[in-house]
Amino acid sequence: MSQSSDIMYIALVVIYLAAVVWYIISTLVNRKKGSESSSGSSQSQPKRRSRRGKRCPSCKQIIDNRRTICQHCGHEFAIDPNSEPHPDEIRTGRRKPVQPADASTAPQ
Ligand SMILES: [Zn+2]
Repeated sequence: MSQSSDIMYIALVVIYLAAVVWYIISTLVNRKKGSESSSGSSQSQPKRRSRRGKRCPSCKQIIDNRRTICQHCGHEFAIDPNSEPHPDEIRTGRRKPVQPADASTAPQ
């Protein structure tokens, strides 16, 4: 028995194991995606918050996601035109209120 055939056999086993591990991981990921809404209480997900907030890079305070100016230190964020403006910033004139895209299909 030559040594090269042994190496080939080990390589095949490694590839087989990698395929099995990949299959298990992908199955677990798909299962997690499928049942995310029904049973998502096993893991705590800090990204899911009822209140949206972002951290100011200057003063490290959590501020409202809609704000474009930190109310603690005055740090200015880039304005996202697609985001909902904060009422304070509409009042101060920094941002304009969002216009409804389709006024014809307004809810009754
Ligand atoms: Zn700040």
